[in-house]
Amino acid sequence: EHIIDQIKAGEVLERPASLLKELIENSLDAGSTEIHLHLIENGMDLLSIEDNGHGMNFKNLPFAFLRHATSKLKSFEDIYRLHSFGFRGEALASVAASARLTCTTQPKDLNAEGGKIIINGGATELLIPQRASTQGTSIYIKDLFFNTPARLKFIKSKVSEKSALKKMIYSFVLSHPQVTFTIKWDEKEKEIFKAVEVDSNIERIAQVFFSRKTETKNIIAASQEYEGYKVQVYFTRETHTTPQYRHHYLFVNKRFFQDKSLHQAVLRNLDIFWRFGESGHYVIDIQAPPEDIDVNVHPNKTQIKFLRSDVVYSLLVTSLKAGIKTQAI
Ligand code: ADP
Ligand code: MG
Repeated sequence: EHIIDQIKAGEVLERPASLLKELIENSLDAGSTEIHLHLIENGMDLLSIEDNGHGMNFKNLPFAFLRHATSKLKSFEDIYRLHSFGFRGEALASVAASARLTCTTQPKDLNAEGGKIIINGGATELLIPQRASTQGTSIYIKDLFFNTPARLKFIKSKVSEKSALKKMIYSFVLSHPQVTFTIKWDEKEKEIFKAVEVDSNIERIAQVFFSRKTETKNIIAASQEYEGYKVQVYFTRETHTTPQYRHHYLFVNKRFFQDKSLHQAVLRNLDIFWRFGESGHYVIDIQAPPEDIDVNVHPNKTQIKFLRSDVVYSLLVTSLKAGIKTQAI
């Protein structure tokens, strides 16, 4: 019963950032190692994603855009995902109903046929088989919410929508260092995050903080462990050069989450570096036993509860202090 409620709660397609989150998750589920994004007007005019994942067969293509098409509910991990990723077989169906969508796909087996589908406001206008020379899926979404009152709301709240999109995109960039991401905003230059070597999290963090993987020397790193918990912290000194955007991220077991009190704890402990009101960047990477994490919260939020929050909190504080100690102030 609980799970049904969660699915229902996820049916509302809240905003461009929630939609794009679902699309990126689908591309990652398909095993993609390259994901290319293009956003015009924060995704309201165009939101596109191109991947090199395992694609879909022609006969499965239309089913991707029907309600409850999910084939992915199998295990505990799926329940976790259910909580974390909202829609469950709903994302593509919801967007197909309130946008102009084109999808082309080529399955991994290059002898098999993929295809192309065009759906406008819920009506299928084209569905044809076709074959491409490389595997992968591309989805182009135009005029998001064009037939709903929600559109106006997002066109008005440009700044907050852009920062929600950035936070979500960069959290995937950070948690998938082995995937190449490119992001094009409007017609401006692309941001490029080339795949880094397996387990070189710090290079990916340097790409996100400083746009260069070689800048790792400007990242202070430390970690602490206790009874199956591990907290790794990565932070910078005050950054005067990039005033518009602060990178602040919390991850647990490679999944992004938000937590005001942990965020405040980071700010308090780093205020020796960040005392001029201008803060720097941080990434906090927490590993915790899965059974100690309560993901029983609203699916459209990215909150979780730790059964042993005292352990998490004290590992966080001690690793921040250990990191500070390595620096001459
Ligand atoms: P879910 O991810 O919960 O299964 P979605 O509505 O997000 O539901 O997607 C529906 C189905 O469409 C997926 O189960 C998958 O089979 C297919 N699909 C969607 N996006 C892709 C993609 N980028 N590559 C391959 N298959 C995809
Ligand atoms: Mg999905």
